[in-house]
Amino acid sequence: MAVSSYIGRFAPSPTGPLHKGSLLAALASFLDARANHGQWLVRIEDLDPPREVPGAADLILRQLDEHGLHWDGSVLYQSTRLPAYREALQRLAHAGLLYACYCNRARLRTLGGCYDGACRLYTINSSSVVPDKPHAIRIQLPEPSSITVDDLIQGQLEFNLSAAGDFILWRRDHLPAYQLACSLDDGYQNISHVIRGSDLLDSSPRQMHLLRCLNLETPRYGHIPVLSNRQGQKLSKQNHAPELNASEALSNLLDCLRLLGFSTPSELDRASTQQVLGWAIEHWQLANIPSLTRVTESDK
Ligand code: GLU
Repeated sequence: MAVSSYIGRFAPSPTGPLHKGSLLAALASFLDARANHGQWLVRIEDLDPPREVPGAADLILRQLDEHGLHWDGSVLYQSTRLPAYREALQRLAHAGLLYACYCNRARLRTLGGCYDGACRLYTINSSSVVPDKPHAIRIQLPEPSSITVDDLIQGQLEFNLSAAGDFILWRRDHLPAYQLACSLDDGYQNISHVIRGSDLLDSSPRQMHLLRCLNLETPRYGHIPVLSNRQGQKLSKQNHAPELNASEALSNLLDCLRLLGFSTPSELDRASTQQVLGWAIEHWQLANIPSLTRVTESDK
């Protein structure tokens, strides 16, 4: 068999156990990788201690295992990568792309979600000295700038990169922001395909832009529908989505396959998780997945 250059990943934040919505993303990225004879990596995005739940990372890994989703190589923990994020930040600063932002929450609230660039004068580079007060670090975006994401599931999408203004790369509480850590690690791990939920659709143009600024390859992106409960809310810990249970692994997998557009044969109702996954790898087609941004649990 030819060696595949496909490398996919699942990158959960350890903010709680996996629920069916997170299983949907894990399963879709796993199946796409395996159907393409690729590797499937797991990365724990543990960069937000205030939101993390002790023990959640180990629990997530156990739940993946119990559902037959076995990953390749060792798990990458983002908390071990801080020096790399700092180094990338420095490279962007040398290129004159970063500035310190002193705006407080109250001011940001008045802007309605689109940062106005008020702090752009505080450029961070080797010759500038910015005021020594608490600040976030933002990247200055070109304006206007349209960016095309050729999404593997949603089709070709045009974004205005600066629609929400310059975004944050380093937080006021001294933590790297998701956009920086995630794109840098996708580059570092040579990820070729990112299959994830549509709640992250807006992140893709930003991550592509950052990777280009850092001279790293951009992966292909594919966004699956997000699973909502019957009240139309995204399944999440806040909405009390039940955690995945090992004793229901088979029905969880079958439910997720149906949500991903498969009609599963009835023999699979009595099969093992490995048989279900084997069947799904063999029949996997991205074209089956509904190009919706949401599906509800009752869409089965
Ligand atoms: N860690 C992010 C989350 O759990 C997902 C990152 C990604 O898939 O790009 O929402």
